[in-house]
Amino acid sequence: MASSIKPQPGIMEIALYQGGQAHVPGRTDAIKLSSNENPFGASDKAREAFSRAVHSLHRYPNTDHASLRQAIGDVHGLDPARIICGVGSDEIIHFLCQAYVGPRDEVVFTEHGFLMYRISTYAAGGTPVSVPERERTTDVDAILAACTKKTKLVFIANPNNPTGTMIGLAELERLANGLPKGALLVVDGAYAEYVEGYDGGAELATRLPNVFMTRTFSKIYGLGGLRIGWGYGAQDVIDVLNRIRGPFNLSTAQLETAEAAVRDQDYVKKCRDENMRLRGILAEALAEKGVPSDTSTANFVLARFGSAEEAEACDDYLKSEGIIVRRVGGYNLPHCLRITVGDEPSCRRVAHLIGVFKAGGA
Ligand SMILES: *Cc1c(COP(=O)(O)O)cnc(C)c1O
Repeated sequence: MASSIKPQPGIMEIALYQGGQAHVPGRTDAIKLSSNENPFGASDKAREAFSRAVHSLHRYPNTDHASLRQAIGDVHGLDPARIICGVGSDEIIHFLCQAYVGPRDEVVFTEHGFLMYRISTYAAGGTPVSVPERERTTDVDAILAACTKKTKLVFIANPNNPTGTMIGLAELERLANGLPKGALLVVDGAYAEYVEGYDGGAELATRLPNVFMTRTFSKIYGLGGLRIGWGYGAQDVIDVLNRIRGPFNLSTAQLETAEAAVRDQDYVKKCRDENMRLRGILAEALAEKGVPSDTSTANFVLARFGSAEEAEACDDYLKSEGIIVRRVGGYNLPHCLRITVGDEPSCRRVAHLIGVFKAGGA
């Protein structure tokens, strides 16, 4: 039996988001390299904070997130008043669309951009506008050419997922300065911590009122299961987003764990260094076996195959050997597989198996 109630325009355009597969049927020892998770998990300090939160489960959480915003502000040198925290950066993306996008408004992102931009745009009733990239890299001129008076938001993940490429701060600034009046550039820094010396666009968002930055605890902090992200931008934008944020959107366990995690920058550095080393091993081993990739700036490598058929056959083979990587046909890259940089044995094993596959031994 079906109800007769109809959803708002745009809702039925949404294709359900498919997370990275987590299991191979019939196997308990599968290696998951499909969701860009930190193979080393969360820092000990974050785990301890999470354990302590068990004692306050009966208490409502704090509503203004002041302590977490202060910690983020201290670590990044930002004004805590201009920070908002959410249930992953996904929720911040959703708030931005809900607050600024409606029917007839356009949201611009790139052809291999993160799928949540399209989903949140449709959820708000807006129109997604997909722009070509240049060799799997953000093309500022193509984005500027696609902007109109209807453009409200422009989303750029930098580094981008699933390509792993990024553009420089001067290019981001040129993009911001070229946007139509009334449009906001959202720089998604989910992988910013993996790039030594890169601030994720923080300084730009401090200086330019039409730049907004999103960040997450899901990637280098190893807290994807806990669901915490944050945004930083002009005070008036933060004030708008706070009006639609649920007062108790984050639990005490989320707030206290994230605070301990962000204050443990030694752990972040350790993870960044190890990712850089292992990413080099993985990319080089793949190249030797005839599988090229663009120079990645994140914690994954986008492996390119000769065709969609070859990429799918390789994925099937890896799965049969207990290794889960990510198909990226949904990102218009059907001939590629996205492989998260795991621990050293995982990197060596996936490269070895792809070598076997390429040599025809699968
Ligand atoms: C993983 C990822 C995020 C993070 O999402 P959360 O909701 O914070 O887990 C955001 N943007 C991009 C491009 C990502 O790949």
